[in-house]
Amino acid sequence: MNYAIEFGPVPTLPVAESNKVFPVGRIYCVGRNYAEHAREMGHDPDREPPFFFMKPADAVVPNGATIPFPRATRDLHHEIEMVVAIGRGGADIPVEKALDHVFGYGVGLDMTRRDLQGEAKKMGRPWEMGKAFDNSAPCTALKPAAMAGHPAQGAIWLKVNGKIAQKGDLSEMIWNVPETISCLSRLITLRAGDLIMSGTPAGVGPVKPGDRLEGHVDGVGDLTISYAK
Ligand code: MN
Repeated sequence: MNYAIEFGPVPTLPVAESNKVFPVGRIYCVGRNYAEHAREMGHDPDREPPFFFMKPADAVVPNGATIPFPRATRDLHHEIEMVVAIGRGGADIPVEKALDHVFGYGVGLDMTRRDLQGEAKKMGRPWEMGKAFDNSAPCTALKPAAMAGHPAQGAIWLKVNGKIAQKGDLSEMIWNVPETISCLSRLITLRAGDLIMSGTPAGVGPVKPGDRLEGHVDGVGDLTISYAK
């Protein structure tokens, strides 16, 4: 392709136990998808259709990285999430066919500048500057569904400096993965390469320079991310 400007490489994530990489297209995130987290954010959990926001593809950070502490925030929060990687695109995908579109799964962090998000909420403004910033989407290598299956239950947790901060179970999702894919595909056409961050369990909290985050999803993997001092 004869681009008019220098254009960086496509963002990628490694594929577990493989020499291949997964090209990251778009990153969709589900809001308030665990009841306890909805409550801690001051909302009543319900079965209203899920809502979505996005992060740029180049917000992905590989497992094991040390990240510079983000600018423009005094209240960076961690949100541990299972990441769903879409291997086959589609629109209006029925729930019963949704898992056919999944390439695999990862363990990710929906890093959030909670102060900027809170201000945006209060002013009725978009969330992007709270959610879609540099290095805001650390993620492990993706484990193909052929290896991981389609995890619907199992522990999801996050430790900050060795202490448990977030803890939940995938079965507590208000909208499970097939329902989430189906709902999202009725709003936009999903493409191969898209990632979906499936929401975070309760216990979100602050991250400081020098902190070490360790996240886990049963059967999917372990993520370790450090913040520079
Ligand atoms: Mn989130």
